[in-house]
Amino acid sequence: MHDRIQNHSTAVIIGAGASGIAASENLIAAGFKVILIEARDRMGGRASTKLVGSVPFDAGASWLADSQVNYLRKTADSMGVKLYPTDFNRALVQYKGVNALVEGTEFMTAVRRRLILPYLKLHIREFFGSLKTLPSMASMLDPLLKKYGAQAAYARELMIVNEASNLDLTSIATLLREHDLIGEDGYNPFPTDDVMVDGGMQAFVTSLAKKVKPSLGEAAQAVIRTENGVIVQTTRRRIDADAVIVTVPLGLLKAGTIQFAPGLPVEHRAAIGRLGFGNEKKTCLVYPNMNWAKEHHLVGLHDSPYFNFMVNVSAIKGQPMVMALSAGDKQIAADSLSIDELATALHVNVRAILGSNAPDPIDFSTTDWGNDPYALGAYSHSSLDTLGNEAKILQRPIAGRILLAGEALSNRNGYVDGAWSDGQRAASVIIRNL
Ligand SMILES: Cc1cc2nc3c(=O)[nH]c(=O)nc-3n(C[C@H](O)[C@H](O)[C@H](O)COP(=O)(O)OP(=O)(O)OC[C@H]3O[C@@H](n4cnc5c(N)ncnc54)[C@H](O)[C@@H]3O)c2cc1C
Repeated sequence: MHDRIQNHSTAVIIGAGASGIAASENLIAAGFKVILIEARDRMGGRASTKLVGSVPFDAGASWLADSQVNYLRKTADSMGVKLYPTDFNRALVQYKGVNALVEGTEFMTAVRRRLILPYLKLHIREFFGSLKTLPSMASMLDPLLKKYGAQAAYARELMIVNEASNLDLTSIATLLREHDLIGEDGYNPFPTDDVMVDGGMQAFVTSLAKKVKPSLGEAAQAVIRTENGVIVQTTRRRIDADAVIVTVPLGLLKAGTIQFAPGLPVEHRAAIGRLGFGNEKKTCLVYPNMNWAKEHHLVGLHDSPYFNFMVNVSAIKGQPMVMALSAGDKQIAADSLSIDELATALHVNVRAILGSNAPDPIDFSTTDWGNDPYALGAYSHSSLDTLGNEAKILQRPIAGRILLAGEALSNRNGYVDGAWSDGQRAASVIIRNL
């Protein structure tokens, strides 16, 4: 028999990213004693901002995306945070040696047409409770590449980053899901209302921790079920708890970094295996000024072996920075370069497209999420093995007291707001158990 969870019970939350902060705040509000432990020496997790020169560089999440469905966008608005809309729709695209100005409307109409059949099939299958894997993104988009040229090539680069993976390894689940969430217009890789936040994403996410005080630099090593509760073994102590929420990234669950005793249920483990967890690399250059740069927010880099696209932060936020994103094969190629080589390669693109008289950068930086021991990658996606029931399985409480949470379990996986709402969901399961 387990002790009943009561409103003065102790809950341990593992991980102080968006999900862990949301779970902690909700449990504290419900009267729980919350112990939030975080392996890093800071809060925010994959919402991570560092100063490069004097410019904030969002090394992890940059945008609050999809304003129609983004809870944190509304929160940021209500807090009076200054937000910087980014126009993904009118981009300069380097395509087969030519710089073209593209808008994505026609291409997206063609994609939506191709999605109607898979969308209907999926819903019919769901109605009959039958689960099947879905075709790859590449099989959906590649037949359109020839007809829509630069426009399609640009969309493809955005989608590779969105999935943090090559498109032949990810399923069309994202395209179909956005149709469900956002409605008739469905998935739009060319949004105009995604916003960057003033001061960077880390400061914003951290500012949402109102009551909770995390224990920083303390890593969980094991979650051990006992007859009456749970023990969390950390690098510093053994904590007796009534409930635990584990919000570490999916990459760590795949790698078995935290030991569960007894082990996670078979269904949970299988679901963890079926979900994809990709990588994304960001590289930034800081310039003395950017008076020389064109005004476009986005530049598609179809021809580059290292970068999918670059972002003119100066045109968006008025800060003299260019940031490039790499995923899939391009991320692997970028990882093979030294930071100096990478910065030089990016500067060549900047000169070729944004302004031929660009001065040399005064500072630069890059990321390596794949080797970050507390991330082991960037964010989750639906792989070709994903059946669509994984999040529901992973959301099931284990022995009524152990919950997994975080971006990978959300119907907005890959996003900060998805992580936030999933943390709230996990807390509410514990609160309902009172
Ligand atoms: C390069 C990149 C770009 C992105 N771009 C965007 C974007 O533009 N917009 C968007 O909405 N989202 C974006 N995302 C995704 C977004 O950052 C994540 O979905 C979200 O931040 C995940 O929050 P989380 O709480 O689920 O996980 P995390 O933020 O990873 O939090 C988990 C925490 O657990 C900690 N931890 C790990 N192991 C242990 C342990 N053993 N003990 C204790 N603590 C531990 C980690 O240090 C971390 O702080 C991006 C992510 C990356 C990496």
